[in-house]
Amino acid sequence: TNLIEIKNVNKIYDNGVVGLKDINLNVKKGEFIVIVGLSGAGKSTLLRSINRLHDVSSGDILIDGQSIQKATGKKLRRMRRDVAMIFQNFNLVKRASVRRNVLSGRVGYYGSFKSTLGLFKKSDVDLAVKSLQRVNLAEKFYDRADALSGGQQQRVAIARALMQEPKIMLADEPTASLDPATSTLVMDDLKSLNKDLGITVVANLHNEGLALKYGSRIIGLRAGELVFDKAVEQVSETD
Ligand code: ADP
Ligand code: ADP
Repeated sequence: TNLIEIKNVNKIYDNGVVGLKDINLNVKKGEFIVIVGLSGAGKSTLLRSINRLHDVSSGDILIDGQSIQKATGKKLRRMRRDVAMIFQNFNLVKRASVRRNVLSGRVGYYGSFKSTLGLFKKSDVDLAVKSLQRVNLAEKFYDRADALSGGQQQRVAIARALMQEPKIMLADEPTASLDPATSTLVMDDLKSLNKDLGITVVANLHNEGLALKYGSRIIGLRAGELVFDKAVEQVSETD
């Protein structure tokens, strides 16, 4: 069965730019999808449609059989919880501790009275420690986020995303601001979520080597259209 179903999706931005053109794509639980394509191909637009950071212009997107595109209110919030996301620039609160950043990923805490006072439930603090252990950064719990290297910051962002206990992890150019060695560590962490926790990963990458090393399936976009879709073992030299 499909965890994500993208059906006839078009996205036209307000200024008339076509972001996505009639995209159809099914993703099964446990896949590690890598989306490749030149800058402007629509990779980021596609990811932002899956967790409904923006609305698509037409078509539908189902998560676990339910339309996230049509969901509202409480149901939409519940569906979004299943879909975590990390970004090229980490999006951490730089002056806050790693602990505070990771705990902010727990839905309901952001901006709440208790979190403002730094009051967290023990079970949530335990989960934060566990999430940081998963990315091998438990010893950084009390450090300020901006004291960490770029690669470490991205791994904190992964730990924060894990606090949602998501089914799907979207990664928008997660290694674009990192050097090759650090990129590998971040990709290894994503792979371990995929293998050990069964989290389905959809990552935009423009690095061919990383795409082939980590992806189980490669999707290619060009000018908003899906032009390539192969299991990684089927990708050949001439592709
Ligand atoms: P990629 O992630 O592959 O680089 P994007 O999804 O960011 O591509 O962009 C696809 C197209 O949509 C590009 O032409 C881009 O300029 C355009 N685009 C992206 N975001 C917006 C926006 N908020 N408003 C208008 N056009 C946008
Ligand atoms: P590492 O390989 O140690 O994970 P990076 O290759 O990401 O680190 O970065 C190398 C150095 O550049 C780090 O030690 C860090 O001081 C600095 N650096 C890189 N990115 C950032 C960032 N986003 N914020 C602060 N410092 C950074």
